[in-house]
Amino acid sequence: MPPLKYLTGYPESLILQARKLLDQGKLGAALLSRYSAGAHGVRTDRALYQYVTDLKNTYMRNGDQINKVAFDSKIHVIQHALGQHTYISRVQGGKLKAKHEIRVATLFKTVPAEFLKMITVHELAHLKEKDHNKAFYSMCLRMEPNYHQYEFDLRLYLTHLEATRQPLWDPKANADATDMAPAGKTD
Ligand SMILES: [Zn+2]
Repeated sequence: MPPLKYLTGYPESLILQARKLLDQGKLGAALLSRYSAGAHGVRTDRALYQYVTDLKNTYMRNGDQINKVAFDSKIHVIQHALGQHTYISRVQGGKLKAKHEIRVATLFKTVPAEFLKMITVHELAHLKEKDHNKAFYSMCLRMEPNYHQYEFDLRLYLTHLEATRQPLWDPKANADATDMAPAGKTD
């Protein structure tokens, strides 16, 4: 059996549990029942910028300003490359200016609010800490106490997506099946 690449590094018992649900075709249904509220409403780059800025102002008031935020369809969601944060410093008028850009994989347009919060918190923490170290994760946890649960569940979703290619919360995907209970959707 090929390894579940999105779950690398998690305890064996959790991986086995995920594998079992996947093999039984129940992983999607399990995620849908845990996140039954559906996709969040942040649809555009402008809305995403507002969302990210609001979170930043709540938790990191003294941090650098974020210059650009966008959904990016070119980000391939593998392991740690869920989003992307670029930091460009350039000299302007004799002063060193920092320019922060946050790009979030387009996949995050159609996920539950919890997953958008998780990736945003992750990218915001990168404003202060480049590496995925202890300080990094404690910042993530300060902004979202359930950070680790949401990241794990997001990885379960990526595992499900790769195996089935069936988005769970995409409103377009469900548009012609509105009278079907999402959890009962098995196709
Ligand atoms: Zn990261």
